Amino acid sequence: MLQTVPAFDRIGEENAFAVLARATELAHQGRDIINLGIGQPDFRTPEHIVEAAVKALRDGHHGYTPATGILPAREAVVRRTLMTTGVEVSPDNVMILPGGKPTMYAAIVMFGEPGAEILYPDPGFPIYRSMIEFTGATPVPVPIREENGFAFSAEETLSLITPKTRLLILNSPANPTGGVTPREEIAKLVKGLEAHPHVAILSDEIYDVMTYDGEEATSLLTFPQIRDRLIVLNGWSKTWAMTGWRLGWSIWPNDLYDKVRKLAVNCWSCVNAPAQYAGIAAIEGPQDDVEKMMRAFDARRRIVVEGLNGLPGITCQTPKGAFYAFPNIGGTGWKAKALASSLLEEAGVALIGGPDFGILGEGYIRLSYANSEENILRAIERIRDFLAGQ
Ligand code: PLP
Repeated sequence: MLQTVPAFDRIGEENAFAVLARATELAHQGRDIINLGIGQPDFRTPEHIVEAAVKALRDGHHGYTPATGILPAREAVVRRTLMTTGVEVSPDNVMILPGGKPTMYAAIVMFGEPGAEILYPDPGFPIYRSMIEFTGATPVPVPIREENGFAFSAEETLSLITPKTRLLILNSPANPTGGVTPREEIAKLVKGLEAHPHVAILSDEIYDVMTYDGEEATSLLTFPQIRDRLIVLNGWSKTWAMTGWRLGWSIWPNDLYDKVRKLAVNCWSCVNAPAQYAGIAAIEGPQDDVEKMMRAFDARRRIVVEGLNGLPGITCQTPKGAFYAFPNIGGTGWKAKALASSLLEEAGVALIGGPDFGILGEGYIRLSYANSEENILRAIERIRDFLAGQ
């Protein structure tokens, strides 16, 4: 038996992928499975984006690029950031990476080590905690509460900071809750952070434009007083339905930029060139498909919330962002993971148990509404029948 370093025994998982694998296996066995498990848009990448990648290959863009990404892609990110946040960043602070996750990895390995504490949202994207544990740092969950509309609380977050805190991870709009933290709350947090200059901030803004009912996400970039310790994670996966392209960006403070550049040189050299050209087309091209996708998500969101609230023992807040519903299943008498697993095996509905997103996820399940209205309605009926049969 080969012996690997202990860090690899502490590494976690994203259970959405395990659920996807099981759902696919059941489907191959001939079962009719409705997949509300995986967090990816069910739309095709818009055609002009695909064409831009094909053209890039035909034009001979198939070699290495700079590790930080090609300048036109970084400049496109600058223009997009100005448009969505009103903040002008320099292309010299922009990194192009293979997806959103590598920014998470880079930021967490930069600050995590035994003895350090890293704050992360719970329930939250499972890779935060997994990577914190990988580094040997102590994961400190910041509770994300239903009674607070699934926003984070500035006061509670600040109360968890100690002299050992090295990094604070924030995510709004949020996975898995769909919560959007109001600007006043973020402003309060930033004010409080002034007393803790030793804390770096990783703001995961990958769902930044995926909001509803006129709700607007607040970028941490709009607070100049923390820019020298702020890393902003973003990417193409969700907004332009490009999960499989593996393409993301992040904005780094001057002092950290060269460190992440060197990590890129060591780990992946650069993002594949045609994908970077596709990324430029996504930002610069027409946004009609994005708008169409968001209108579809909005309509499905209403259907899923109404449907879930009509089920016995289940209540569901209306998500303000992303494409997830996070209903409270407390009244069903079920534990969340057992319910998720039984719904998949017995009712053919794939969704994720709340505890896969953290300890505070018990009592909740996550449904991704990246599926057709028809399938969402069928899934709700299956859940109703399943609960009635218990
Ligand atoms: N951050 C959050 C909050 C996410 O939900 C996801 C994907 O589900 C990611 C980051 C990762 O994005 P990518 O697929 O681009 O690595």
